[in-house]
Amino acid sequence: MGKRYTATVRRGFEIAYRCKHCGFQSDATVTGVGIGQGNSPYFLDAQGARGRASASASSDARKNADLTLRLCPCPKCGKRDATGFLVSSAFVMVGSAAFLWGMGWMITALKGRVEGVFVWTFGLAGLLMPIFIFYTAIRWKWTTAAERVIFHAISGPPRDDEDEDEDEDEDEDEDEDEDEDEDEDADETAAAPRRRGRRQKDRSMAGGRRKQ
Ligand SMILES: [Zn+2]
Repeated sequence: MGKRYTATVRRGFEIAYRCKHCGFQSDATVTGVGIGQGNSPYFLDAQGARGRASASASSDARKNADLTLRLCPCPKCGKRDATGFLVSSAFVMVGSAAFLWGMGWMITALKGRVEGVFVWTFGLAGLLMPIFIFYTAIRWKWTTAAERVIFHAISGPPRDDEDEDEDEDEDEDEDEDEDEDEDEDADETAAAPRRRGRRQKDRSMAGGRRKQ
């Protein structure tokens, strides 16, 4: 019993970027999006609950900014540092299905007989939960990463080609997002200032959309 407060925070962070594939370095301004919750048990502590929600949203925004910078395609080589994110996302999705199916199995075992309603309820919930998690908590972190990062030193240090070859095993991560990145990488160096302006605009538009 009580009321749960949810706060969403969008905040810019200055973070040093270093691409783990090609070594490109730059300062970056990253917009982190954080969501936090606070409970007001028995409706007694609304003020405190709001404060807890916004404090937890702020620290979530900081974490999201770090993740966003890893998931943003490198301005020089176009690759993302995505392995950890993909693994943990898959783990969460599979885990949620396993948890629900496990619950259904346990209830069935305790009852000693199979009841259709439980099979359907937990079976379906176990299928839908990973999809729900994917669309609410995973997808946007990946697809909006590029538009929430502004690199300040696009030119960067001189190109060193010796690192390029060792990334071959990472390439399968790239295939999924090729179409959305393609035009971004091509003219990054040539038209950096103009693009930066455009990105800024995209970002504020995205912000407006998200608030609704
Ligand atoms: Zn790179």
